[in-house]
This record gives sequence, structure tokens and C-alpha cells, in this order.
Amino acid sequence: MLRPFTPLPKITLIGTLAYLCLSPLTVSGFSKTLPHSTTTMASPMQPAEKNKPMILILTTGGTIAGQASGNGIGYTAAKQDGNHLVSAVPALQNEAEIKVESVSQIGSQDMSDAILSKLAKHIQKVEQDPTIKGIVITHGTDTMEETAFFLNNVIRHEKPIVMVGAMRAPGYVSADGPANLLQAVKVAASPAAMHRPVMIVMNDTILDAHSAQKMNTTSVQTFQSPNSGPIGIVNEAQVRFFHPAQPAMNRIFAIPTTTPFPRVDIIYSHVQMDAAPIEDAVKRGAKGIILAGVGNGNTSSEALNALKKAANNGVIIVRASRVATGFVDRNVEVDDDKNHFIAAEDLNPQKARILLQLLLNNKETNLIHIQKAFSKID
Ligand code: GLU
Repeated sequence: MLRPFTPLPKITLIGTLAYLCLSPLTVSGFSKTLPHSTTTMASPMQPAEKNKPMILILTTGGTIAGQASGNGIGYTAAKQDGNHLVSAVPALQNEAEIKVESVSQIGSQDMSDAILSKLAKHIQKVEQDPTIKGIVITHGTDTMEETAFFLNNVIRHEKPIVMVGAMRAPGYVSADGPANLLQAVKVAASPAAMHRPVMIVMNDTILDAHSAQKMNTTSVQTFQSPNSGPIGIVNEAQVRFFHPAQPAMNRIFAIPTTTPFPRVDIIYSHVQMDAAPIEDAVKRGAKGIILAGVGNGNTSSEALNALKKAANNGVIIVRASRVATGFVDRNVEVDDDKNHFIAAEDLNPQKARILLQLLLNNKETNLIHIQKAFSKID
């Protein structure tokens, strides 16, 4: 039979010391073998916490709050309220005191600047409330990475902020919402999760908002950080981070007070690309354009000429890539210095768009400052 802990040898000084040093299952044993990880474990050696932390769940909609339509594959997102989500997971009560509030009830394809602002202002207030120890945000997965990235760039926070969703609606045999919600609350309630970036928790995996991307249209392991990997894992036994928390490197912006945010269009590059979509974006009043370029943020000569013209007319041009992994670097095939372009580095087009909107909202038009924000150098 498997036993969770080796029994202590006879209580002699030498025996006890040897046990503490050698047993891989003691907390001290863990910190010896994995010096850089931080963890919160369920352990019979630790007394149960009497006062459970208060976790606020903010609901916005998505599949996690959806309803299967009964035709086998269909469902409608954002049908169930927060109390319904919480009551479907009684085990939440073992982890935390739960408070639920609704911010919106939408499929995240309808996420708007107004809701992003409202959500960020709400969280900023909660950051000041000493009774709340962590925040979980339920959200559709389609645009979750954008909301996570936005929050990570506008909220100076200490408390854990965890975003969570589901790929399979309630009512499906493989519904993943309940397990994901439980894991998200576990992470939000963990002291090891403090002073971390905004996180996405799905399917045992903890990812940071800067690098997490939706990578698969239907898989429950859809969120990944292809450039840097997850920052931790969560399962029945523990919340484990692979490295200690570090001070945030990104610039924190004021939450925009007017909506919509400055117009920034994403333009997708392809074979036989012409200037029309770029010229149209400029005509529609785009203050910035994100190129979802081929390869290292490149595009056809015709499109490149249109981008140069737009840059000369004061439109901020950021070169990102339609490729899911890697960095877009300055001055490789395209001369950014000469053309007054910005390189998106590791930000995908949709996150580059949010960052440029925040910079423009902050009246930032200095290209050196803008490049520094993309390069996370302050
Ligand atoms: N399109 C919906 C949304 O993003 C459902 C997708 C999901 O939540 O996984 O809210």
C-alpha cells in the first residue's frame, strides 16, 4: 500500500536529523532538492488553517458559464451566474471563503474597452480591501489572454489575480470548468502566488499574462506560453511555482478613463499582399497599426511601402508576427531605424495592440520610449 509519508525512525537525535535531511517528502527535503521553487502543499504535518482566506470571484461570462444546447456539440456561452458556478463546486469551501460578483455576462469575443476599464477599476479597489486575499476572474477563453495582459499592465498589485475559463461547457461529459475553478481558487488563496504577474490557470497549469496564448481551438490544454513555458503547476496536492516571485519588469499605465481606447488596427500579412488594408486603416483613423507579419515581422514590398508612408504621417507601426513563437527583432530584414518602426519582440499581435493602445492613451509618441515598453526596458 502506498503511504504518503515514511514513518519517523525511533526518536533519537541522530535519527531525527537523518530523517529531516534525507526524506524527500518533508518540506525541508523539498527545499533542498528544488531550491528555486515555492510551494503551498496539502500536508498532514501542517495544522489545518482555521481562517480560510477570502477570495473574490469576478464573473464575466464565457464557456465556463455556458449551457450545452443538447445537439451534441453546440452550446451558448455566458448563461449561468456566479452563484451557480460556485455552487457546482462544493470543494471550493475547503480552500477559501468565497465572495462572488458579476462584472459582465458575455462571450469574450464581445469583450470591450468599456468592460476592460470597469474590470480594472473594480480590481484596483479590491486591491485596497484588506479582507480580500486574492481575486479570480472567470472569462471566456477566446480573448482571455488580452484581458490578462491588459490587467497586468494597468494594475499594480500584490494579491494574486487569477484568470480562469473552460473549453467544455457545463453539461458536457468532459466539462473542465469546475476543476479549473477549484484550481484557480487554490492558486489565488496561496501565499506563494503573491507578488506575481496576473496569471491564467487552466488544466493544472499556471501561466503568466505576458506570455500565455490560446494555442488550440478546442483542447483543454489550450493555454501555453510557447516562448517561456508555464510558471507553475497546481493539482490536488499542491500549488507549486518554479521560481520565486520577482518584481514586475513591465511599465504600469493608468487605467484609461475614456473609451473606446485609441484606435489600433491589426493587419495580417499574406502572399500577394497589397497596400489596400494599410491605406484603409489609415483612412479609418488608426493611430497605430500592428503588422501580423510573415516570419520575423515582414511583409511584401508593396505593403512595406504603405507602412513607411503611414509612419511618416505619424501612425505608429509595430511589426509583430503571425508565427506563434519566437521574437520579432529590430533591424534584421526590415530597417526599423530608417523606417521609424517598432519591433514587437515577444508580444503576439493582439497583445501588441493592447500595449500600443495603453501607450497612445498615455500620449506616448516617442518611438524610443515606445520601443522600450515593448522591450520591457524602463
Ligand atoms: N467564445 C466564447 C468566449 O470566449 C466561448 C469560448 C470559451 O470560453 O472557451 O467566451
